[in-house]
Parts: sequence; C-alpha cells; structure tokens
Amino acid sequence: MPSHAIQYTRAHRERYLDELKQLVSIPSISAQPAHKADIQRAAQWLVDHLTSIGMDRARAWPTSGQPIVTAEWLRAGDGKPTILIYGHYDVQPADPIDLWHSDPFTPEIRGDDLFGRGASDDKGQIFAHIKAVESFLKTASALPVNLKFIIEGEEEVGGPSLDPFIEAHQADLAADVALISDSHMLRPDLPAIAYGLRGLSYIQVEVTGPATDLHSGSFGGAVYNPIQALAEMIASLKDRDGRITVPGFYDKVRPIDADERAGLANVPFNEDQFKREAGVDRTWGEKGYSVLEQITARPTLELNGIWGGYQGEGSKTVLPSKAYAKISCRLVADQDHHEISQLLQEHLKRIAPPQVRVETQTLHGGHGILIDRDTPAMQAAASALEKAFGNKPVFIREGGSIPVVASLKHMLGIDTVLVGLGLSDDNLHAPNEKFHLPNFYRGIEASIHFMSLIGDEQ
Ligand SMILES: [Zn+2]
Repeated sequence: MPSHAIQYTRAHRERYLDELKQLVSIPSISAQPAHKADIQRAAQWLVDHLTSIGMDRARAWPTSGQPIVTAEWLRAGDGKPTILIYGHYDVQPADPIDLWHSDPFTPEIRGDDLFGRGASDDKGQIFAHIKAVESFLKTASALPVNLKFIIEGEEEVGGPSLDPFIEAHQADLAADVALISDSHMLRPDLPAIAYGLRGLSYIQVEVTGPATDLHSGSFGGAVYNPIQALAEMIASLKDRDGRITVPGFYDKVRPIDADERAGLANVPFNEDQFKREAGVDRTWGEKGYSVLEQITARPTLELNGIWGGYQGEGSKTVLPSKAYAKISCRLVADQDHHEISQLLQEHLKRIAPPQVRVETQTLHGGHGILIDRDTPAMQAAASALEKAFGNKPVFIREGGSIPVVASLKHMLGIDTVLVGLGLSDDNLHAPNEKFHLPNFYRGIEASIHFMSLIGDEQ
C-alpha cells in the first residue's frame, strides 16, 4: 500500500507544488488586523482542500482570535492507532518588503527552493502531511491509521485561542500520538527528530531604595542605591563555573545520561559557526557541559533587561528610588516553571540588603518537555525518515519551546513526534523565506512511511 501512495506522490509532484503555491499566496498574517480576511481565506482554503482530498468533517472553528481548522479520517477502525497532526496556517509579516528578491506572496521557484512568506513556516511543512494523506486516499481509498488534523492561525502571535480549544475538544482531538513539522533538519540529507524542548520561567524584579529620587550631593554616601543593590543581587545568581546559585534550582533537573550524551556528541554541531553567529570569540557557560548541551539540555538563567535611574542625555546627579530587571530561565524536563519562578523570587528577596525593598512578579511560564526516544512512534518516525531521506535521523534537543507540545501532553496525555522539514537557512521570520523542495517531496514520502509503519504495528 505505501508503494502505491509513493508512486502517486511522485506522479503528482507538479500539482502538489501548484497547490502549495496557492496556499502560500494567501497573506495570512496573524499579527496584522488588516489581514483578517486573508486569515479567514486561508482557513477556508484548507477546509475546502481537506474536504476535496477525502478528509471527513473538515471545518474552521471560530474563536475569539483566528479560526482553528480541524478534519479527521477515522475509518481505519478502533484497532488502529490515531495520529493527530498539528500545524499552523498563519505567517509572519513580510516586512521589510524591499529586501525580498521576489514578492513574498507571489511564490517563486528559484533553483530547488520555493520562495514566499510561510513557504517553510509552516505552510509547506503541514502541506507535506496533507499530501501524504491524499496519496493514500487517492490510491487505497483508505489510510493505514486514523488521523486528525488541527491547524491553527495564531501560532506566530502566541495567540490565546489554542489551549482553550484543545481543553474544550479533548474527546474530538483524542489520539495516540501527535506529529508536528514546524522546525528544521540539520542538513538537506540529514533529518532530525527533536525529543527535548526547554520550558521558560520569566520574572520581573523591582528594587526600591529611597521613597523618591534623591540628589546625590545631599544624600549620596549614606543611602543604599537600589541599582547597586540590584547589581549585587543579580551578580550573585551564578558562580564562576556558570552554575546558578538559587537554592533548589537544579533539584528536579533530569540529568543527561551517558547514552544521551553519546547521542548528542554525535550531532554535527559546529562550535566555530556557533561563535560566528553569536559574534563572540569565546563561549561561556556551565562547566562540565558541551556548548550543545548548554544550549539545549541544561537550564539557564539570563538577564533580559535592566534599568533604573537617569538614562537621558548628559548628566544628572540622581540617587534613584528604583531599579528593575527582567530575568528568565530556560528550563529542562521535570523542572516546574511555577516552582522555579517562586524559588527565584524568594531567593532575590532573601539576598537583598535590608535597606531596600524587593517586589517581584511572574511574567510568563511554560514547562520543558523530554520525549522518550524509544517509543514505537519515535522509532517509526526514525525509520520513515531514513527511508525517505536515505540517512538515519539524529535525535536532537531544541533550546527553545514549542508550547503546543506541552499543551498536547497535559491536556490530551499524548507525546509528540517532532519532525522538522525546514532547513536552518530557510529565513524564517526574515526576508526571502524559502522551502527546500526536495524536503517537501521527501517529507511527503516520510509521512506516508510513518503512517504505514504506525498502522502496521497493530
Ligand atoms: Zn511555525
């Protein structure tokens, strides 16, 4: 059965590409209210398209923000597993337009790449799975698994509609595993499966010294300056070895075991390129860990901003009343973001000199994720990618977050298989975004193999 679907895919590449160009030509920019109608149009285009390839109950659900598109095909029966495929049809704004070599919403093929806003993030990637489904339904009139799509329109703005929607439709969205392609591979011939995502804990600190700004000539020397107090506090948050000093911070961190270390050491990571991209001569981080481990598998604490006192032109001899900082931590599996926020805030209050007052607030939080690499779904994804791309995928951890993965875990109780089809030079969120077309075609085939392997297991 997969071989027929694969043949069909290869015979219809041109049409598949034409259809992707239609989708990319809709400027569904979620950040700009002027594109509200385009967002609606993209959602409706998907509903019509999913219906036309044979998916059942395709519809666009209104939300307080942008519509959420769902569709399903459940005719494989109760004995077969159910896959939930997530993607997003909204795109980033195209500005600055004058840096584009072709119109962002008139998709253009140059070489092996399709240029257009959203081509890679995420229209091309989600469309690969849609075409895999079509290739099955047009040849076997059936899928080897039960399958559901959820495609949202607020990913690029971190919109609030998705979580309540998942919460309210738990039964409709129930599945055995989720599949997401909204990230990138390491090289065109080297696929990757991400199994770790970091969480986030983000707080703001306000340090108050004197009740009002004071003249430093009259008061300086005898009043604790809140900027100095804040500087001392934050300077003490890490030791010389780059370890975070907040008591309890590492208590729940799941250690990197030897097996995983060996796996990460095999990921082709170029430290010189990393330094070039960062614009630094030397790296600095937690002692005892490689740079790749530091940026993906270990928790961090970073100062995102610090301000206070006089910052205008020239001089003003003020002894300020207040000083502020924004501090965030990237978290790894098993660290609870509520708990870390609280530990950090309590610690800052505890270490403050008694002459100042400290107030803190939590700004944002999310849990880290670590997915078992040995589950049948992960192994099926690994062999599906190997069949389609000719090389075994490497397992990687992402340093950032994909919040929907935690939502699916917590609300539906399912793990996600993260198979990126983009490339790191796809210019996501930048001018001249592109999608590498061999990844599109191989992505369709990988998706076909994945569904077939998962379906065969039971
Ligand atoms: Zn995306």
